[in-house]
Amino acid sequence: MKYFVGIDIGSTSIKITIIDENKNLVGYKISASGSMFYKYAQETLNQLLDELNIDTNDIVYTVSTGYGRKLYKEADENISEITANAVGARAAAKDFGEIKTIINIGGQDSKAISLDNEGNVTNFAMNDRCAAGTGKFLDVVALKLEMDVDELGEHHFKSTGTPLSVSSTCAVFAESEIIGLLGNNHTVEDIVCGVHYSIAKRIVKLVKRVGIKKGIYFDGGPAMNEGLVNAIENEIGERIFIPQYPQITTSFGAAIIGVDSYNYEKEAI
Ligand code: ADP
Repeated sequence: MKYFVGIDIGSTSIKITIIDENKNLVGYKISASGSMFYKYAQETLNQLLDELNIDTNDIVYTVSTGYGRKLYKEADENISEITANAVGARAAAKDFGEIKTIINIGGQDSKAISLDNEGNVTNFAMNDRCAAGTGKFLDVVALKLEMDVDELGEHHFKSTGTPLSVSSTCAVFAESEIIGLLGNNHTVEDIVCGVHYSIAKRIVKLVKRVGIKKGIYFDGGPAMNEGLVNAIENEIGERIFIPQYPQITTSFGAAIIGVDSYNYEKEAI
């Protein structure tokens, strides 16, 4: 059996996806990026190969992508995360329908990508200047409210009434704003819900820069937060597709590109 590896080295986490020659998902692993991207990517890949009982020699093509992609020297190819995200989203959502708009929220940036009918990227917009509208903002809020980031979603749905207004765009100011809201006897649930709506509003502004087209796909770690998904759907006024494994779309796309490149190179010989 031949296997293909997609390695997405993001600012917060490393995602490794392995697929077979028919582009079926075989397995994946996620680990923290830390400061030694190459070392951690290599360790994560070795652990995944062990878990799946795959011999290194059966890996025929590796594609790296993401913020740290150029640091993974063993890759046969490295590609932009925008392209990999688009390819992965279309494949992951094939039963949902055509994907025309992708929202990706990562640890330190957020992106909106627009696709044409053939799946080509026609436009993209990115926010990587401040933490507002990124996973980092959610991490800071969760820490301040003394909960894990994966608990934010359930608190969101316990909020009642109109979502609170949380105006801070900077994570540092958000911390003091949250202390102020707690001091004014607002509940944790209402604060979480307000934070989700403030992020959703920023994300919708970002998506508007590329144009909102139906067939919306949301990925990246924060797409696992159902409260945030709910807020974005309400703000955008459209249904959004969330893949089964939101963090690995880009590494999945990189692995798929690996299959195509491998087949193309084989034909060219
Ligand atoms: P990057 O690709 O930039 O490394 P990710 O797509 O891995 O980023 O997203 C990381 C962010 O995802 C974290 O900062 C965190 O806010 C969020 N996150 C991670 N795991 C979960 C989870 N189980 N539930 C909700 N949010 C999560």
